[in-house]
Amino acid sequence: MFENIKNLPADPILGLMAAYRKDNNPHKVDLGVGVYKDEEGRTPVMRAVKAAEHHLLATQDSKTYVAPAGQDSFNHHIANLVFGKRLNTELGGRRVTFQTPGGCGGLRLAAEFVQKVRPGARILVSDPTWANHIPLLGDAGLRIETYPYYDKVNHGIRFDQMMDALSKAGSDDLVLLHGCCHNPCGADLTQQQWQAVTELALQNGFTPFIDMAYQGLGDGLDEDAYGVRLMAESLSELIVVSSCSKNFGLYRERTGALSLITGTQNATAAAASQIAATARGMYSMPPDHGAAVVATILEDQALNNDWQAELQQVRSRINDLRGALVKAIAEQGVDQDFSFIQAEKGMFSFLGLSVDQVHRLVNDYSIYLVDSSRINIAGINHNNLPYLASSIATVLKD
Ligand code: PMP
Repeated sequence: MFENIKNLPADPILGLMAAYRKDNNPHKVDLGVGVYKDEEGRTPVMRAVKAAEHHLLATQDSKTYVAPAGQDSFNHHIANLVFGKRLNTELGGRRVTFQTPGGCGGLRLAAEFVQKVRPGARILVSDPTWANHIPLLGDAGLRIETYPYYDKVNHGIRFDQMMDALSKAGSDDLVLLHGCCHNPCGADLTQQQWQAVTELALQNGFTPFIDMAYQGLGDGLDEDAYGVRLMAESLSELIVVSSCSKNFGLYRERTGALSLITGTQNATAAAASQIAATARGMYSMPPDHGAAVVATILEDQALNNDWQAELQQVRSRINDLRGALVKAIAEQGVDQDFSFIQAEKGMFSFLGLSVDQVHRLVNDYSIYLVDSSRINIAGINHNNLPYLASSIATVLKD
C-alpha cells in the first residue's frame, strides 16, 4: 500500500526555521515565521491567559465532551468580540458560531460545509493570499481563482482591478477577504473600499468569506472589525472565520471560530445542523482548553481589561517597529521609498526585494525571510534593527 508514495518537498518556511536554528551567527535575525515576538524575541504567554489557566486548573471539575459546536460561552463571547455586542444582538438567530480548532480548522470547516451544500463552488482569493488558504479551501473541493490585490511595484492595493474582477462574481461564488492585517502584504482595504465591496456584494449577490486572524493587531479590536461589521450589518449572508492564535497568543491551543450569517433564522438553523455534522465527520469536537481560557477572560472584566492592555502593547510595538524600520533604512541613504511599510498593518509586509536579494540576506547576513520578501515585523527589535537596516541597504546598493 505504501511502497510508491511520492516524497513532497519540505515546506519552505519550515526549512527556513531549521536553517535559522542551526546558524551560529550571533547577529542572525528571524523574520520568517508568523508568530508575534517581543523585544527579547520571545512569544510569551499573555498575563490574562496565565491567570485564566490557573482559574481553570482550580475550578474545572470534568473533562467530559463538550459538543461539535464547542462551548456556548466561548461562542457567545467571541461573536460579541467579532461583531460587537449591539450588532450581535441584532443578528440574533441569523448568526451561528462554532468553536473550531484554530482559524485553520474554521477555514476548513467552512469550506467543507460549502462543498456539502454547494459542491464545487468557486472561491475568489486575493493575489497574493496566505499560502495555506489554498490547501485549506481547495482540498475541500472548492474551486479557487484569484482576484488582483497587491501591487508589488507601487506597494498599494490594485483596487480598480480588484473591483473589476469581483464584478464578474455572482450568487454562486464566494469571495475571500482578509478582515484586517492582510497576510502576506499588510495592505488593508480602507473604509470606503470596504463600502464599495459591500455594495458590489449586495448588487451581484456573491457571498463574502472573511478570514480575520489578526483582530486587535492593526488599529484596535473594534477598528479592525470595521469590514466584518459593515458586511454583517448590510448583507444577508456572510462567513467569518476568526482566530485566537495571535490576539490571545494561543497558537498551539488551536482556538478559533466560524460564524455564519444567513438571511433567516430557519436557514441558519439548517446550516448549523450541516456544520455540526461536518465537524462531527472531521474531528468530532474542537479542543477545549484554549476556548475555555478565552471564555474565562472575556467573562471577567478585570481579566478582559488586562488582556486588552497587553494586546494594546503588542499592537503599539508592531506599529512602532514599522516606523522605526522605515526610518532606519532611510538613514542608510537608500534611494527607494519604504514609507509604505509604515502605512501597512499587522505582522507582515513585503520588503519588495528580488529573490536574489533575499538570498543574499539569508546567505550572507543570516537574515531569514521567505523568497517573496515577506517579513514578520515582530521579528525586529531595537537590538537587531541597525544591522537589519544596513544589510538591506547593502543588498539594495550592490
Ligand atoms: N488566516 C491567516 C491569514 C493566518 O495568517 C493564520 C495564521 N497564520 C490563520 C488564518 C489561522 O491561524 P490558526 O489556525 O493558528 O488560528
